[in-house]
Amino acid sequence: MEDILKYVRENIKRLIPYSTARDDCKIKMDVYLDANENPYNNGVNRYPSPFQEELKERIAILKKTGSENIFLGNGSDEAIDLIYRIFCEPNKSSALIISPSYGMYSVAAEINAVEIIKYRLEENFGLDARKMLSLVREDTKVIFICSPNNPSGNLLSQKEIEYVIDNFDGIVVVDEAYIDFAGSSSFSRLVNEKRNLVVLQTLSKLYAMAGLRVGIAIANRDIVKIMNNVKYPYNISCINQQTALSLLKEPLKIREQCEAIIEERGYLEKMLQPLSIVKKVYKSDANFLLVKFADKDIAFKTLGNGGVIVRDRSSLEMCDNSLRITVGTPKENDRLLGILYALDNKEFHAREKGGTDSGRSNGRRAIVSRETNETSIQIALDLDRFYTPFISTGLNFFDHMLEQIAYHANIGLNIVAVGDLKRDDHHTIEDVAITLAQAFDRALGARKGIERYGFSLPMDEAEATVLIDLGGRIDFKWEVEFKGNMIGDVNAQMFNHFFKSFSQNLKCNLHIKADGENDHHIIEGVFKAFARAMKCAVREDRQNAGIPSSKGKL
Ligand code: PMP
Repeated sequence: MEDILKYVRENIKRLIPYSTARDDCKIKMDVYLDANENPYNNGVNRYPSPFQEELKERIAILKKTGSENIFLGNGSDEAIDLIYRIFCEPNKSSALIISPSYGMYSVAAEINAVEIIKYRLEENFGLDARKMLSLVREDTKVIFICSPNNPSGNLLSQKEIEYVIDNFDGIVVVDEAYIDFAGSSSFSRLVNEKRNLVVLQTLSKLYAMAGLRVGIAIANRDIVKIMNNVKYPYNISCINQQTALSLLKEPLKIREQCEAIIEERGYLEKMLQPLSIVKKVYKSDANFLLVKFADKDIAFKTLGNGGVIVRDRSSLEMCDNSLRITVGTPKENDRLLGILYALDNKEFHAREKGGTDSGRSNGRRAIVSRETNETSIQIALDLDRFYTPFISTGLNFFDHMLEQIAYHANIGLNIVAVGDLKRDDHHTIEDVAITLAQAFDRALGARKGIERYGFSLPMDEAEATVLIDLGGRIDFKWEVEFKGNMIGDVNAQMFNHFFKSFSQNLKCNLHIKADGENDHHIIEGVFKAFARAMKCAVREDRQNAGIPSSKGKL
């Protein structure tokens, strides 16, 4: 804690935070006569959870961090303001920010009487850490870096950002409001190692909850504790906490939307580039494009007359004649393009088939959600398209094994599982198996036109053999022995249970045999072999589109 306290204002160090009677009692109460509430239940008569534990636990799984590393605020704007209030002395301290960037860093600084020093980004909005750090003064307490940056849209170099974090004796805030669109890893993985780092994220952008106002700061637990001490006691209403929780139960639908937005971003970029009224479309890693026009006023006004509002960013440094265009649905983007093509006197053919907003047909895909008292699981599966898997179950080793399925079966697979891991891993692993089987079952439909059988050869230094028949019968064989009880953070016995549950729920014969020296390699071999076998079995059979059985029936 000492290493953090040295950055904190004296009055905040001395602060005795407001506490509630409910903070102090550890056992569960059911008669609440402590907070002068109206006792008659209407759904909102009680104060909300001040530290939003349940919501934090869910966000922690999605963000692959600890819930003790998370602060939640009324938008990440609240976190920005709190950081000034905690670390900067009014009329004495300064903060260093990149320019151009998000306007609230300056506005919140002004409100808190903190002087702003601006570091002008390099050409193409790049960051030069050493140049930025050369502007640090004795009174500089905080640095704000935004990546992907708003309004330029680009990710800044991770190496340069890391250099700033490592070489600044103060707090470095990395604002990752748009990180979900960037396909890049978050700095949140470093918050325990780099003690002066605060990462900002939000539910307002990809997670489609701008109206709720839930912002996220991820930092070491000491910084989170100080932020909690300074915030208003009940800064997120119970309605907002509940709504966020229920919307986060379908995180994989959001990931589908993410892919659709990224695809549209590419389309908009491609379609805007050839226009003569457009001077430059900057490369974007966010859900918007910064576009330099020959005359932004004409473009802005014409779009406005057509009912399309975009953001004029031309008053910012390096952004002359530039408009920031948020990526919309295909229909909205076509409307924007239609107006700009007309202004350019070029013909524009809107996409005919853009009937669905996500733009993809169903194919051999499935999204399955399964909720029980013990677990909440969502799985998205695409048998015909690989994408980088996103797997988060709260069990690192299990995540690693499930990733093998995606890579070795060459399928699209995302899994988010929130389970009661405090008790043990049993429910989480079993329920992931059941839900995964349901996803395969749904994606395979009537199982017409597939190879049906799958097998795989020995692999790695451990030998693993997996045989599969998707013909609809259930016969499970497991000839695998482990030397220890745990593999990584997972109970070794649970792997037998995982595949057994999978075979029962997909209705498939599954025979697994493996041997080797090292438990990690044995089970990794099993998952890889299983993935390879599944790859064979689900493959479409070009010669035979019917039911893959001589009986004509599975
Ligand atoms: N950071 C950046 C870079 C932003 O662009 C925005 C909002 N436009 C925010 C933070 C604030 O987000 P929130 O809705 O969580 O307050």
